[in-house]
Amino acid sequence: MSATTQITLRTAVVMPFVMIFIITIGVIVTVQKNSYEEMVRDVSDKQLTALTDNVNLVLHSFLNDPFQASLNLSHSIGFNHLYTPNDTSNIEQYLRTSFKNLYHNLPQLDVIGFGGESAEYVGFRKEPNNDYTLMVQDNRTQGKLVIYRGQTISQDIRSVFEQYDPRVRPWYAPVAKSLTPMWSSIYANADERQEITLSALTPVFYADAFQGVVVTDIKIDTFNTFLKNQQEQTNAVIYIVDDKSRIVAQSTGGKIVSWGTPQSEKGDRLLATESANPVIKANADYFSSHDFHLQNEPQRYQLDIEGERYFNHFTPYIDEYGLQWYIGVAISDTHLLGKLPESQRNSWIIGIIASFLGIGLGLVAFNHIVAPITSTVSAAKRLAKGDWDSHMPKPGNIYETTMLVYAFNEMANNLKVSFRALRSQLLYDSLTKLYSREGLIDTCDKLPILNGSLMLVGINKFRDINDSIGHYQGDQLLVAISQRLKSVFSGDYYLARIGGDEFAIYMPAEQSDETSLETANRVLKAFAAPFVIEQESVVVSASVGIVENGPDENMTLWLRNGSIALSNAKQDVTNISHYRPEMADISRNRTLMQAKIKDALEHNEFVPFYQPLVDLKTGEVVGAEALARWLSPSAGLVSPMDFIPIAEESGLIGAIGEQILLQACNDTVKGMKEGKWNSAFHMHVNLSVNQLSQPDFISTLQRVLQQSTLNANNLTLEITESRIVDNDRVTIQNMQAIRDLGVHIAIDDFGTGYSSLAYLHKLPFNCLKIDRTFVNNLNPEDLDTSIVAAIVNMTKGMKVSLIAEGIETDEQAKMLAKLNCPLGQGFLYSRPVPFEEWPTNLVSMK
Ligand code: C2E
Ligand code: CA
Ligand code: CA
Repeated sequence: MSATTQITLRTAVVMPFVMIFIITIGVIVTVQKNSYEEMVRDVSDKQLTALTDNVNLVLHSFLNDPFQASLNLSHSIGFNHLYTPNDTSNIEQYLRTSFKNLYHNLPQLDVIGFGGESAEYVGFRKEPNNDYTLMVQDNRTQGKLVIYRGQTISQDIRSVFEQYDPRVRPWYAPVAKSLTPMWSSIYANADERQEITLSALTPVFYADAFQGVVVTDIKIDTFNTFLKNQQEQTNAVIYIVDDKSRIVAQSTGGKIVSWGTPQSEKGDRLLATESANPVIKANADYFSSHDFHLQNEPQRYQLDIEGERYFNHFTPYIDEYGLQWYIGVAISDTHLLGKLPESQRNSWIIGIIASFLGIGLGLVAFNHIVAPITSTVSAAKRLAKGDWDSHMPKPGNIYETTMLVYAFNEMANNLKVSFRALRSQLLYDSLTKLYSREGLIDTCDKLPILNGSLMLVGINKFRDINDSIGHYQGDQLLVAISQRLKSVFSGDYYLARIGGDEFAIYMPAEQSDETSLETANRVLKAFAAPFVIEQESVVVSASVGIVENGPDENMTLWLRNGSIALSNAKQDVTNISHYRPEMADISRNRTLMQAKIKDALEHNEFVPFYQPLVDLKTGEVVGAEALARWLSPSAGLVSPMDFIPIAEESGLIGAIGEQILLQACNDTVKGMKEGKWNSAFHMHVNLSVNQLSQPDFISTLQRVLQQSTLNANNLTLEITESRIVDNDRVTIQNMQAIRDLGVHIAIDDFGTGYSSLAYLHKLPFNCLKIDRTFVNNLNPEDLDTSIVAAIVNMTKGMKVSLIAEGIETDEQAKMLAKLNCPLGQGFLYSRPVPFEEWPTNLVSMK
């Protein structure tokens, strides 16, 4: 995965979709909201304007009709000269007729009356039963105001007021002064009903002389009824206030006369701000704070009243007779639009639910689409973990994902096939068709328990054999060996080739030491007869390492132990070795030693010590043997016995041998130059068979000779007899080449090898070194039948020199001389010493 943040395919697809959705919804909401607001404004405007207009119209006729009546009456009274001071009977007659015929059906008209210049008064008043009654004050009533129960002067009197002077009434005085028609201010009547009344006042003239005032009273209460009706029909609150913000009428009902408040005295009309109706009160508060009275223009505004939005109009109502009122109309959101806002909200909720359903459905569909992809991913993960048998993803119904799944399954199947092929390559040896090392481990680790025995069979010197017969035949040999191994075993066993020349056999059945030893011997016997490869017979020997009771459940460890036992077996004469836990330590030490040797090589810690070779007859020193020593800074002087075998095993012997050879050659040249050694001096240097079997050994030898400038005739290479493999082509070729160079060859430790004498004639050599055990075994009694005597005899005809090794006593030296052994070496003459300590005063024998 990269370092960038990863989002899922689902998010990648759904996110833009959701974002577009949200943006669309947002745009629709704002547009809708704006148009909704616009509509609301529009509707409220129209509704309120219509209402106001209607109220205006009705109010106009409500007020105007009584006013016209008043005008007509005053005109007629003046025109017909009906006024006679102190007698109102003409006017009474006229008013009765007018009331009866004309004005009886004006419901708002309450009283029509006439007040004269001489304090007369005549009028008719409407009664609740739609009848009307007469009120008179003139000479006929002795100057008192008499209110009758009927329409004429009679004894049926309701009440009598004395000292009533119409000229001081608020409806008379202003008109008498201005002499023009006008409205009175609103007042509570002086009669017993105390109704809120507005009066139309008109002066009466006769020939320009002012005679009195016609008054028509309007009961404002009747207008309230109209407003109430309007409210019932439209749900709008309607109210009318005068220029002092006192309520004239209201659709909400309720009183408009104060019972005494901080702002109004008892009997005053209520201020709009004192209204019990919250809508009117809120409006009043609003327009009182905005000084609408000064502007006399219609006002529109919205108010939040008790959690509801109200649309309001406030319009002046002015008439020619000095009336300055205002009509206020307020209607709430819900009343204005009815169920519209609710259904609007509902449609939003439905829309949102539908959208979420849509998104949910989309997600489900999308999950369905990506299911093959995610199952492919998890199948790929399982494959990556090596779970080859997990189920494969199933294709969906979508073309692309189906293709993906098919392609994946095909790839997975191909992978499976290749994996199986690879695995069988890994588990089986292609050459012999046996298990490979891994195959053996894999198979055996699956066994319920590991308590049988493991046998490792190593072909001795297979590399040499391979080199001599060629690789193709080498392979055939391995196949043939595997066949023979199969023939040895029966029953339950697992056979594997675990290395180039190593085979392993695991037998699951528990076995005793003896039976496994027996089996091992059978294995070795199987190698007794030579293998015939391409008509050539090849002699092969083997070693067997045996492991029993290895660590449970771990074939790898069994094999490691087997390999330790096998390398032990290779050192052993019997070529068979049982694994013992100590071996692991030895082998660990060996590994450690190898590392130390490598280190020592780098620091040139290997040096030759020299031991003289002496002419047994003359005591003359004829040469020296170079013996390797390890001058370790930590361990001191280390014997070759401790490091040569390990070096041989690990192949490090080549490098050590080369260092020793070069130093020995250099020292020889130096010794000769110094006159320490004569020109016939022979330097003997030990050569491991490992070195000898290297194809490039000759070139190394040549280089050393060149570098040291030592004459080849002064050098002898010692090769241990028992270790020479007679049928190793490279070894024989190299020995020949050494001799061709003029370098001598000595057969070391002669007599210890098995079939030494039999093949001796095949080997090119110049010198035999008789092993020290034979020197050690010499005794004067049976000197002639000794092995030394036999060797001396055998080589009589040959042009080879003989050196007896390990001479420690004078006696031995004498016996050897007696047997005509020409040369010898041993502690008797000198221990191996460094070049510098070479003895100058060597024992010379007589
Ligand atoms: P070797 O080639 O048989 O060498 C002779 C061994 O006999 C030497 O042991 C020497 O010190 C010892 N020796 C000499 N005179 C007497 C005596 O009178 N009595 C007794 N008991 N021993 C005597 P060393 O030096 O410990 O070497 C042991 C073996 O190590 C050598 O046996 C040789 O096989 C091997 N070796 C030593 N140097 C080299 C080398 O440079 N290369 C190779 N490949 N092998 C070497
Ligand atoms: Ca030697
Ligand atoms: Ca020797």
